[in-house]
Amino acid sequence: MSSTSASSPDFPLATELVEALKKLEDKNLKRQHRVVQTPCAPNLSIANRPFLAFASNDYLGLANHPELISALQQSAAQWGVSSGASPLVSGYSAAHQHFDERIAAFTQMPAALSFVTGYMANIAVMPALLSRGDEIFADRLNHASLIDGAQLSRAALSRYPHGDLSALKKALTQSTARRKLIVTDAVFSMDGDIAPLADLLDLAHEHQAWLLVDDAHGFGVLGPQGRGSLAQAGLSSPQLILMGTLGKAAGVAGAFVAGSAVLVQYLIQTARPYIFTTASPPALAQTLVSAIDLIEHSDDRRAHLHALITRLRECADFKHWQLLPSATPIQPIIIGDNAQVLKVTRALLDQGIWVPAIRPPTVPVGTARLRVSLSAAHTFDDIERLAQALNALERAL
Ligand SMILES: *Cc1c(COP(=O)(O)O)cnc(C)c1O
Repeated sequence: MSSTSASSPDFPLATELVEALKKLEDKNLKRQHRVVQTPCAPNLSIANRPFLAFASNDYLGLANHPELISALQQSAAQWGVSSGASPLVSGYSAAHQHFDERIAAFTQMPAALSFVTGYMANIAVMPALLSRGDEIFADRLNHASLIDGAQLSRAALSRYPHGDLSALKKALTQSTARRKLIVTDAVFSMDGDIAPLADLLDLAHEHQAWLLVDDAHGFGVLGPQGRGSLAQAGLSSPQLILMGTLGKAAGVAGAFVAGSAVLVQYLIQTARPYIFTTASPPALAQTLVSAIDLIEHSDDRRAHLHALITRLRECADFKHWQLLPSATPIQPIIIGDNAQVLKVTRALLDQGIWVPAIRPPTVPVGTARLRVSLSAAHTFDDIERLAQALNALERAL
């Protein structure tokens, strides 16, 4: 007999799952989908109710840009919908090649290679470059995909305290591994602060290590014309590997890895999440070329975004909560307790405002927070409405 009941399975391993889910619920850690009925934008609809959202990574407000919508329509008419195969079989199109060349030039790197997602790019690079006996040095607050990539590589993993250059230097000096790689978020995804990239590159040079920089949140937002965190810091080196995602500021989907020509050639030959997956649709690659054109010409959007960040920081006035120092669109408000942060999120939702609660294990225990994410699609009125709601809630709770 088969049963579809989720509540009382008679298979013991499934009963374990029921218990594990119950535990998550008891700790206020059970997550749920909120089903969005409208396109990605500050004003959206859930369960037929309107919300003002501070929840997406669409930092430049390009996800609904008419030029990108028509680029995708035209590209689909030209290329169809699927690439049909993995890139080394027959899935790599002229559209992919065009995009890879465009993104390398835009990020001022010698070469680049696109991936289906940023998660896949991050689990591709480290296992391609390192294996047992090698060592990875990772900031403690790095994104989960970087931790997974490090573990898949089977290299030893040394995690240094967030931004602690002297701890990193010590670990590098003590290491006996021949192949070393330092890995960091450029803009930390849950804190919004920026890594000390120039110092990290100095250490990489001193210790003959690779430096892998995940610029998921800086690409499109930081640097001249939105070229990203490395361009903002003015860094280049054959030891640098840049990963950027294309589903955030670029408003589309996908990711790229940029670096030396030999690095990119090596990834094409050896990176399993590149080789053993269907290439992204050529229509998406072609749309992404338009997205890079838009990013390049979006100084006005970046200026507006930075003005919104300043306005939020001026208007927020907390006594117990802590608005972390951040010059990026990620503006985290530490509340601490899981139940308390959920209470605040629910109170905001009651007022038609959606700010995601971020809880462990995404962030360290005791640092549950609201993650306010700003977009150039927001207005000053949106920011003031949010700040007033937050200020009043902090006093009331
Ligand atoms: C979003 C994100 C990723 C993953 O990128 P996707 O394209 O969404 O898979 C990787 N690293 C960081 C820091 C991110 O924020």
